[in-house]
Amino acid sequence: MKILFATAEVSPIAKTGGLGDVCGSLPKALAKLGHDVTIFMPYYREAHEWFANNGVTLDEVVPPMYINWGNWAAEATYLRTTLPGTDIPLVLVANDYFFNRPHIYSARLDGYDDGIERFSFFCRAIIRGCELLGIAPDVVHAHDWHTALLPIYLHSGLRGSENFRGARSVYTIHNLNYQGIGTRRQFATLGLHSRYWAPDAVEHFGDVNLMKGGIIFANQVTTVSPAYAKEIQTHEMGAGLDGILRSLFFKLHGILNGIDVHEWDPAEDPHIASPFHLGHLAGKSLSKRALLREFKLTHKSRTPLLGFISRLTDQKGIDLLIAALPQMLAAGAQAVILGSGEPRFENALLHIAAQHPDSCRVVIGFDNALAHRIYAGADILLMPSIYEPCGLNQMYALRYGTVPVVRLTGGLADTVIPFNGANLDTANGFGFIAVNPADFYTATWLAMLNYRESKAWRQLQDNGMAADLSWERSAREYETIYHRAQFS
Ligand code: ADP
Repeated sequence: MKILFATAEVSPIAKTGGLGDVCGSLPKALAKLGHDVTIFMPYYREAHEWFANNGVTLDEVVPPMYINWGNWAAEATYLRTTLPGTDIPLVLVANDYFFNRPHIYSARLDGYDDGIERFSFFCRAIIRGCELLGIAPDVVHAHDWHTALLPIYLHSGLRGSENFRGARSVYTIHNLNYQGIGTRRQFATLGLHSRYWAPDAVEHFGDVNLMKGGIIFANQVTTVSPAYAKEIQTHEMGAGLDGILRSLFFKLHGILNGIDVHEWDPAEDPHIASPFHLGHLAGKSLSKRALLREFKLTHKSRTPLLGFISRLTDQKGIDLLIAALPQMLAAGAQAVILGSGEPRFENALLHIAAQHPDSCRVVIGFDNALAHRIYAGADILLMPSIYEPCGLNQMYALRYGTVPVVRLTGGLADTVIPFNGANLDTANGFGFIAVNPADFYTATWLAMLNYRESKAWRQLQDNGMAADLSWERSAREYETIYHRAQFS
């Protein structure tokens, strides 16, 4: 099958979270199953830097093209390469005005957030790019709000284009809470017929809502875990789109993300101090010692090291972490925290570190290599998310023998089996349910107590490390959805 991936992020070129990880690894698993995948992403400054740093030269494939849509026109340049380490074609859409900015999601210089305009341009440029490069997909796989316009464009007559005549669309929700909301005036920048300004199209309570349109017009919709697929159909977690999702439940499926088991492999990880694998965890102890040394924390026996790696936003339960962490440290834990995001959270975490110089370090920033060292060196990974569509961190932790403590929501509930004292044959972590720092603390404290029971702990680590977290299983489920899309 010919599959077109349209995405705002691709790891390792430019990512801010799980969307990038998925779009950097699912195409590889699909290619292994024999599919012909092409990826389109914007040529951000970050992408330019990634290719320059890695000595990759990009080919400009056709002369710059004017993309016309609505009453807009902007120039697109298409650069071609392959997804690193593969021969999967990757096409980068360049336009300095829209994409040459300090960060992937930077607003315009004057502070105006022109996300709707930038990604309308990107989606239009993908369509033109397919025509210019002779790409005729069977399935257009769009991801999150940034490319939600593609299923809408396909519905709105794009099938009149030779290249898209047989195309069907699959739309994946990675995070329902970022919907691509714009003002009524921005509807004009989408280049859609006025009949799409309707509650059963992209209009949502007087605003433009691109994700809503993607959900309505895609042939099939997926999200990144079975539990999240159920949660988003509830009023509490549906972020205003639960009604639409309930009414379209017949085309909504939850497919758990996999992880890139090559990038995240403790036996081969170039970032960590000492390799290790299931059944041989000496390297994990050495990696812990190295991490403690790096942060000038003293190694103490029977003292668990807590890790936390995250965007610092409400979603990730930072309020719970800030409330419970001092007590965890008082109960004898050490902690290394890596994150960036809202300044109020950054400051509160830095404040805790300053108050606990002997046991806690906080690094503000985005550092992939350090993330690897923390997954390898920590004993326990904390993940008190308020909601979590899938979550990758807990899967990386499981693979690195680091026992997760999670709030049992979304993909965390689908991947972490909490230890209850009687299920040591299957358990791989600890969990809590109520959004409450006391419950988070209690679950972590239980993990800390069990950490001292070395036999049970080792079993929890082994259970996690033995799990099949690869993309292969998920890729087969996506394959089924692509087939369904062809008949819907
Ligand atoms: P989300 O997509 O909601 O941010 P996920 O758990 O799905 O959450 O994916 C997070 C990804 O981003 C993981 O690969 C994680 O290691 C990475 N990550 C998050 N914050 C940082 C950071 N500050 N430094 C390095 N990697 C980070």
